[in-house]
Amino acid sequence: MIIAIDGPAAAGKGTLARRIAEAYGYHHLDTGLTYRATAKALLDAGLPLDDEAIAEGMARKVDLAGLDRAVLSRHEIGEAASKIAVMPTVRTALREMQQKFAQKEPGAVLDGRDIGTVVCPDAPVKLYVTASAEVRAKRRYEEIVEAGGSADYDAIFEDVKRRDERDMGRTDSPLKPAEDAHLLDTSEMSIEAAFQTAKSIIDAALSRNA
Ligand code: C5P
Repeated sequence: MIIAIDGPAAAGKGTLARRIAEAYGYHHLDTGLTYRATAKALLDAGLPLDDEAIAEGMARKVDLAGLDRAVLSRHEIGEAASKIAVMPTVRTALREMQQKFAQKEPGAVLDGRDIGTVVCPDAPVKLYVTASAEVRAKRRYEEIVEAGGSADYDAIFEDVKRRDERDMGRTDSPLKPAEDAHLLDTSEMSIEAAFQTAKSIIDAALSRNA
């Protein structure tokens, strides 16, 4: 079973993906971390973010077992990740790893931007999780404040919009819902409600496959 979850930054797809993986005993890969790990390796080595051959070399060295969300979650790493994510050879290198991961038994949940459209176009379950830019910026803001940090809502809102533009506007694998994806707008939906909706979609697919 492969469950593909796509959507823009801070829409809640990561939380939903983890919840689904836990409930069904499936493996989970946050594919954003693979782009982040590539970007961080470049930043750490003082290498440029605009040289595709160098970035591809770094992408090929990414170790899926060593992805650490806490280390990779920094804002600058996310920005750098979305810059190298426009490069086709970087995407090919990371896509191959992601496709291999998707074959894990008894099932895999992958979340990102192009899982249902490009990485796993035959996934039996595809969810496109979204929310308004205002709601997503507010969630990010509250997350930072609750963790004891200080944040500027307007700056976060601008970042969210800029990242959407970059992810939706690129030529290779732009962010968009697959034609057969179920749309989940979480603007006014709790994570629990989103999970229950996803669960009924997954259970229906499992009984079709049985
Ligand atoms: O989801 P996250 O914010 O960690 O992703 C960081 C960046 O990696 C995104 O803004 C996007 O540009 C890129 N990405 C991608 N394709 C994926 C996952 C992430 O292009 N499947």
